[in-house]
Order: sequence, then C-alpha cells, then structure tokens
Amino acid sequence: MKAMRLHAVNDFRLDEIEKPVPRGEEILVKIGACGICGSDIPRVFELGTRVYPVALGHEFSGTVVEVGDEKNRDLIGKRAAVFPLIPCRQCPPCKIGSYCQCENYDYLGSRSNGGFAEYCLVPSRWHLVFSENPDVDLEELCMVEPICVAQHAIRRGDLHAGENIVILGAGPIGILTARWARIFGAGQVILTDIDEVKAEFARERGFTVINSMKEDCVARIHEMTGGRGADVVIEGTGTSSGINTAIECVRVGGRVVMLGNPHKDTTIALNNHSLLLRKELVLSGVWNSYYEEFPINEWKYTVHMLDTGRLQAADLITHRSGLDDLGHLFEQIHSREITICKAVYSARLDEK
Ligand SMILES: [Zn+2]
Ligand SMILES: [Zn+2]
Repeated sequence: MKAMRLHAVNDFRLDEIEKPVPRGEEILVKIGACGICGSDIPRVFELGTRVYPVALGHEFSGTVVEVGDEKNRDLIGKRAAVFPLIPCRQCPPCKIGSYCQCENYDYLGSRSNGGFAEYCLVPSRWHLVFSENPDVDLEELCMVEPICVAQHAIRRGDLHAGENIVILGAGPIGILTARWARIFGAGQVILTDIDEVKAEFARERGFTVINSMKEDCVARIHEMTGGRGADVVIEGTGTSSGINTAIECVRVGGRVVMLGNPHKDTTIALNNHSLLLRKELVLSGVWNSYYEEFPINEWKYTVHMLDTGRLQAADLITHRSGLDDLGHLFEQIHSREITICKAVYSARLDEK
C-alpha cells in the first residue's frame, strides 16, 4: 500500500509498504480522508517526531475492511471516525478517563502509523466512532477530531445560554468553536482574525468577524457587549497579542480558554497580568478532547450531531489532494503560497 511517511525533519515522502494484517483485537481501516492538522506542518518541516519512518495524519476516517478476531466481523463495511490516541490505561489521568492527559501514550499519526496512507491498523474497536448516516461522507467524518477539540473548548469555557463569546482566530477550529457556541446557546458570537481572507471566509458562513489589523477589536467588543466585555473568550492564536487581547476584552469574573498552541516567547503585558488578578479571571487550558463515556464522550456526541444534520463541517474543506500530490500540498501550506481553511487527503481522488 501507499503511505506518506516522515523519515526525518523535511524528509516526507510517498512509500510503498506492506499492507498490515490485523491480529486479535486489531482492525484494518481503509482510509477515506485525513485532515492536515496545523500541527502537522511544523512536525514535517521543523520539529519531526519520535519514531521514523512513520505515516503521519491523526484526523482521519475510513471503512473497516478486515478484523483480527471473528467476533468483530459485524464491523466490516462500517464507516467511522478514528480516535487516534492510544492511552496506557495505567497512569492516574487514564484511571479517571482523562486519556488525553495520559502520561505514556501512543498516537496514530505521530508515534505510530496514521491516516496519510491507503490503510491504517487500529488497535481495537474502542477507537472507532461509527456514523449511521450514509449522507455523512468520509471527508466530513475526518473532521471529527478538530470538531471535538472545538466542542471541548466550549465545555472548558463553561459557556451558558445567553452569554457572549469571543473567539480569537477564525481558522477551522475557530469557526467550529463558533458553531458549537451557537449549539450551546450563546448570545453574541464574535470571531477575530488578522487575515482578511480568513475573516471573509468566516463571514460568508454567517459570523461576525472583526479584522484586528483594521480595527481596535478590544474597543469593538466592549461596544458590542454594552461596555461589559465578553463572558467567555477562546484564545485560539497562541500569540502574545491573542492572550493580551483576551484579558482585555473579557468581562470581570469572565473565563479565558487557552486553546491555541503557543508561539515562541508569548508574554503577558504587566498591566494585563495585573488585570487578570483585578478582574478575577478564570483561565482554562484545553488539550484535545474527552473520550470516556461519563459524563459525555465528545466524539460520539459530535458524530451524532453530524448524523442528525445539526452540525456541518464539510464546507470548511477548501483544499483536497490524493496521496501522490500530498507532499506538494504540504509545501504550499508551509510556504504560505495558499491560504487554506481545512486541507485534506481524500482517498477518492486516488481512485480515479
Ligand atoms: Zn490535530
Ligand atoms: Zn495513561
């Protein structure tokens, strides 16, 4: 089978490798689609990974084609989103179901082979969240991972019906967070971005977006919230300006959710450090999503919302490629030759 594997930093290429055979609990999934995550770009060009060579891609969906154990025969032909984290199940966070905080995890698409391939060997059926609606295609199902991150950010922000929310960063996670905010009953939903193309893309999807290069977004947000400030701010940029803006535009006693991966040397200005205390803000971090059954499996809820047509995500896919052109697509994103919302590897482009 074909697989896009990282061999070293900057050495990402299409290989022909042995198609894996599932044994025991293992399940072989034929990949339908796999999203390019914001984290995949630095992984390929700057940071690398722990294991080489490895097929990258952790945001993927596919169809069950082979099972190791006869008892899982019923799964063949089913379509699913794949939860890529393999928890140790031994450490304290795992014991309370906080698998994304596992101290000794494995991960499909960074430490083990993932979704930028024709097939992926998944450790067990536990990782699969099945869609029951044939109209939800595999491209949309590959969006489940980022949709769950967005949903988790809203939960971490403890958003209540009627509250105003500001989301800094109008990329795919920002727009998905805005969609969840509406589902959770937000009052005003306000996005910001510094890139007019991204701002306009989110506006076309019905959201209010402030271009913070053109306007003073703190002043605008205060104006739009009757001078109070936002109840919840989701910081999705990981930059100094994002963190400082969040502290300035949130209300007294409000909640700031730290979602964006940190950029180099992010700092909080002295007066904003003081404001964080004076306003008695609540700061919450977000790391991935929540997959245990209690109180709620965010993945199953996401697929349920897609299956019942109450949430859309496929319209955020702006770029697609087959495996042959995937390296080129990565380069175009890295060099900023193209502006994307979501770019995906779509297996149907290889089948033609
Ligand atoms: Zn990701
Ligand atoms: Zn663990």
